[in-house]
Amino acid sequence: MAFYNNKKEKPPEVETTVWACTTNDCTGWMRENFTFEKEPRCPFCNSEMVREVKTLPQIS
Ligand SMILES: [Zn+2]
Repeated sequence: MAFYNNKKEKPPEVETTVWACTTNDCTGWMRENFTFEKEPRCPFCNSEMVREVKTLPQIS
């Protein structure tokens, strides 16, 4: 159960496929929808990235 602060409506959250950096101390990731390469490299440290599912606010 999510707790909502009633002051503001939050956008719905959806499971989103992202590319996540494989470097442990790097938090780089990007939405798969916004990525055009088949196997992108991390924009921060240039490491390989792996697909991962995150729950993120929906973008309309
Ligand atoms: Zn990285």
